[in-house]
Amino acid sequence: VLILAIESSCDETAAAVVKNGRDVLSNIIYSQIELHKLYGGVVPEIASRKHIEKINPVITAALDEANVTLEDIDAIAVTYGPGLVGALLVGVAEAKAISYAANKPLVPVHHIEGHISANYIENKDLEPPFLCMVVSGGHTHLVLVKDYGQYEIVGRTHDDAAGEAFDKVARAIGLGYPGGPKVDKLAKEGNSDAITFPKAHIQGAPLDFSFSGVKSAVLNYLNECHMKNIEVNRADVAASFQKAIVDVIVEHTMKAAKEYHIKKVALAGGVASNSALRGAMEEACSRRNIQFYRPSPLLCTDNAAMIGAAGYYDYMNGKRAGLDLNAVPNLKIGEKA
Ligand code: ATP
Ligand code: MG
Ligand code: FE
Repeated sequence: VLILAIESSCDETAAAVVKNGRDVLSNIIYSQIELHKLYGGVVPEIASRKHIEKINPVITAALDEANVTLEDIDAIAVTYGPGLVGALLVGVAEAKAISYAANKPLVPVHHIEGHISANYIENKDLEPPFLCMVVSGGHTHLVLVKDYGQYEIVGRTHDDAAGEAFDKVARAIGLGYPGGPKVDKLAKEGNSDAITFPKAHIQGAPLDFSFSGVKSAVLNYLNECHMKNIEVNRADVAASFQKAIVDVIVEHTMKAAKEYHIKKVALAGGVASNSALRGAMEEACSRRNIQFYRPSPLLCTDNAAMIGAAGYYDYMNGKRAGLDLNAVPNLKIGEKA
């Protein structure tokens, strides 16, 4: 089964051709990062306009690189939420047009289920059930993947997402956008035990997260240094902040694995490419004889190959959308189209 997948939920215009959910024949990503850097974050209006400009060339390139035509494709999979509504609509409208013109079924895909499914691509042996820690720019979910297309959220953040915290702290120490990769890099030169930032726990919800406290603690620390005229060691701040985040994520994932008797743990989302998180999670898993999975960095951040992987299993499960498919900016995991 060949799926043409389209992704435009945020600031990446992407298309891919994926065979049987696991083999990526092409994965074209046009990233708008350079465009949004100027503003220190994604500007929705600019993102939509750029998607319009890039979507056709990106899809053509994906078909060309896979060496297939629309005739060979079995279904069109498209991200319809969650994300920026104007950005999502570009991909959704495009997918509907292709589906209608080429007479191919349309499969609506949840963006976060796509992030999770990125793990199937390089781990051909990975099958549900497994536990997936989703740490992306807008989401922090501890997800029990019970079966293909069957998800249960067992932990979530009460405020900021992990990626959001990285981006905000990066801005505060002057690293620019997107901050996650820059904090990761700078932290390698710092001492993670230099400053103790609080690790917030939610009372009565041991698998949930709160990252706004850590972020505020970093801002307070920077203010205090400024007022007392103490020079800030930015590498130490980056390393200590990163440790506070990583420790909690690993701790809660291990707690959930124990509680649900799961011996397979995966990471997903942009922050899954964080080197400290990958290292700490790998170590924690190996100590407990848990099999550890994570996508390579290119498949952690937004791409269409992951939408093709999720879309394949949705397609096999009979999930379809009509030409009335709409973008759903706040779509919940496991929700019906
Ligand atoms: P969502 O998927 O929740 O809608 P998104 O698509 O914007 O949000 P992703 O593409 O999954 O998010 O990931 C982008 C986020 O990942 C950004 O917040 C970025 O800073 C973060 N990120 C990327 N690389 C790293 C890294 N090495 N360390 C920490 N964070 C990182
Ligand atoms: Mg992005
Ligand atoms: Fe994403």
